[in-house]
Amino acid sequence: MTITSPAELVRARLDADLELFPAGTRRTADGDISISGCSLRALADEYGTPALIIDEAALRARAAEFLRAFRTRHAATDIHFASKAFPSAAVLGVLAEEGLNFDVASGNEFSVARAAGVDPSRMLLHGNAKTDEEIRLVTSSGIGHIVIDNLDDVERIARIATTQVPVLLRVTPGIDAQTHEATATGHNGSKFGVSMEDAPAAIERIQSEPSMRLDGLHAHIGSQIFELKQFQQEVAALSELPRFPLYDLGGGLASRYTSEDPSVSIDDYAQVLVSAVHEHLGHDVRLMVEPGRSMVASTGVSLYRVVTVKRGHRTHVAVDGGMGDNLEASLYGQRFQPWLLGTDPRVETYDLVGHHCESGDVLVRDAVMPTASIGDLAVVPVTGAYTFTMSNNYNAAFRPPVVFCTDGTSRLAVRRETMSDLLAREVLL
Ligand SMILES: *Cc1c(COP(=O)(O)O)cnc(C)c1O
Repeated sequence: MTITSPAELVRARLDADLELFPAGTRRTADGDISISGCSLRALADEYGTPALIIDEAALRARAAEFLRAFRTRHAATDIHFASKAFPSAAVLGVLAEEGLNFDVASGNEFSVARAAGVDPSRMLLHGNAKTDEEIRLVTSSGIGHIVIDNLDDVERIARIATTQVPVLLRVTPGIDAQTHEATATGHNGSKFGVSMEDAPAAIERIQSEPSMRLDGLHAHIGSQIFELKQFQQEVAALSELPRFPLYDLGGGLASRYTSEDPSVSIDDYAQVLVSAVHEHLGHDVRLMVEPGRSMVASTGVSLYRVVTVKRGHRTHVAVDGGMGDNLEASLYGQRFQPWLLGTDPRVETYDLVGHHCESGDVLVRDAVMPTASIGDLAVVPVTGAYTFTMSNNYNAAFRPPVVFCTDGTSRLAVRRETMSDLLAREVLL
């Protein structure tokens, strides 16, 4: 298409950007955007900014798509949402209704899932440093599985459990996942799991313990992985160890954050994983997968209001959120592709920055966006994963609310923090 006017450029760019938004997203004639029938401008007025907006219909559809993609290819599959990607009881509750199970990585994540009404038998517990208290909490409640990370776990469970505990063993298959260093977990030298060399001895040790029943093996090679063949390598590596009736292949499927990222479909992922399982482990095994990011990332958008526009060597458009509500950009260098709901027909390049006292508090560097004015809304799509998880009170910022939208109706899932929340833990003299 030939672009002849700035207004057309804006429309063309926005149409490309909208592919990153949840499926039910539309642009409206007045320059607004609606998500599952809810106007972003109306949501900003009603709930304030910053806010994390979740397309609930898209979230439910994602869960259903994961289940269908795997179960049509391998019926004996359970999908465990990696709750650390969005540890809110409201989100876990919705996913539980859709038939998902859960992985929790701490006693507290376990308790959040319990608060969402999830039965412990539908959970498995991870963690490279599980405490006695955590083991006691989950074993006394009848958890589905504990994933043993190291021999200290074995000793702890043997000492604490009062009934036999179903367990999996986490192995590190020696795969250097092509992703950010902080989110690669499957390489030799990772702090997670036991190495391929140490696995046989660990298996024997666990099998000698009457307090444990070793059902299978677990591996999780990292996060934001585009190269599906790395998952094939993971399955091939697991097949070199003694065989079990159950395999948990972890999570790690990438999400598409910008137009430059390739699309990664759940169907392709399921196809690659299941064919590798059939080839290397056979048709009779039970399968678990643990998607986190890929379940929730695309279902959320972050909504901000522009506070200042500073022009100089660079142009900085500062909003009322930042690294307090989205650490993915500053911690992992995650690239986002934001949009601005403005009234100016021009487009320019600027840094979309946060309001926190740190130069690294940049949401998106060199964003090509409509020219911004104070009071405009900025929206960052694909923020459904890990932003809620890592939100913090830097500069005593309030952690933002989570708003669910579906079919033109919105509801509050998590309210905004208040000053009394912030001061609640302070012991004032
Ligand atoms: C974080 C994690 C996951 C989920 O990873 P994503 O990249 O979010 O899909 C799954 N399993 C384990 C053990 C994890 O630590």
